[in-house]
Amino acid sequence: MAKVHETVLEIDLKALKHNFHFIKSKLLPDTKILAVVKAFAYGSDSIEVAKCLENLAVDYLAVAYVKEGVALREAGIKLPILVLHPQSVNFKTLIDYCLEPSIYSFFVLDTFLELVTKEKLQDYPIHLKFNTGLNRLGFKSPDVESVMTKINNSDSLKVKSVFSHLAASEDIDEKAFSENQIKAFKEIISNIEPYLDYKPIYHLCNTSGIMNYPHAHFDMVRTGIGLYGFGNSDKIDTQLKPIATLKSIISQIHQLDAGESVGYNRAFRASKPMRSATIPIGHADGIGRQYGNQKGFVTVRDHKAPIIGNVCMDMLMVDITDIPCQEGDEVVLFGKSPSAVSFSQTTQSISYEIITGISQRVKRVYLK
Ligand SMILES: *Cc1c(COP(=O)(O)O)cnc(C)c1O
Repeated sequence: MAKVHETVLEIDLKALKHNFHFIKSKLLPDTKILAVVKAFAYGSDSIEVAKCLENLAVDYLAVAYVKEGVALREAGIKLPILVLHPQSVNFKTLIDYCLEPSIYSFFVLDTFLELVTKEKLQDYPIHLKFNTGLNRLGFKSPDVESVMTKINNSDSLKVKSVFSHLAASEDIDEKAFSENQIKAFKEIISNIEPYLDYKPIYHLCNTSGIMNYPHAHFDMVRTGIGLYGFGNSDKIDTQLKPIATLKSIISQIHQLDAGESVGYNRAFRASKPMRSATIPIGHADGIGRQYGNQKGFVTVRDHKAPIIGNVCMDMLMVDITDIPCQEGDEVVLFGKSPSAVSFSQTTQSISYEIITGISQRVKRVYLK
């Protein structure tokens, strides 16, 4: 790996391929794969990741918002793109860029139907989202009749897929709840089927669902975090490879006398002679203030250097008293080791939050 001279997020596309093949090995040969690339592909780079996934012949992509889908289309991505949480003000743009909406409420259905009718579109692909227990987005099971009647009364829409989302797929203690969601989803499928003379794609599982509920893969699975190297369990994590490594350097080293303080509000006070190193990454880059004051750490030459004092906007300071190192040396925040899981656990956070929060200011570099 190349030596860095500034803060970078290194994205390993070989690791992405490895994760894709690992996830695929958990599926039946015919099960389709939808890759979730929302939030800049979980904080990496949605365009580079989507191009790589397109080469791997993934079946579908998903983003949360229309704007994210537009960015993929403008980069030349041709795969079908499901927009999980479109807002009605963006429906015209969604159509202009051939994006496919999740339709999750009567308001969304009626507004979209009105637009496609006005535009005289035929068979525009939509994805029906049902709520089976997460209570976030989705129609309820008894809505099937009126949803399907509205859709069948027009020739403007085609139900490309029907889906739901598990609330606790990673939590084995909630197995009974998840099995109930699977059962509820099957009932929804059998209630929808009589209304259609074609077969939509049915899908329910996210990454942990793929691993823990192999009997619930249906026609397609939706994987996000797994592609990026995390499986919400130690067992799966050892078989996946984190694609993102956040690295920086030591900008400056300070010798501190006992009694000196470090950083804003003098939050850290040296009780003995110490050495501190200043690292050019701060809360504006996604390392929040909760990592300050000895909660989080960076890794310098395989040693843990705790973050001391308050994390600043553009910098943080670490204790390197017992670590032989010099200005210009590389430091790692998270990557293969320590992983984003162990880094985020220092603040009771989770891999999803730390990786998606690395701001666009941090330069992305790619290992292809
Ligand atoms: C984000 C998201 C996913 C991906 O979940 P992972 O746990 O990252 O695999 C799947 N489905 C929906 C509806 C989502 O919002």
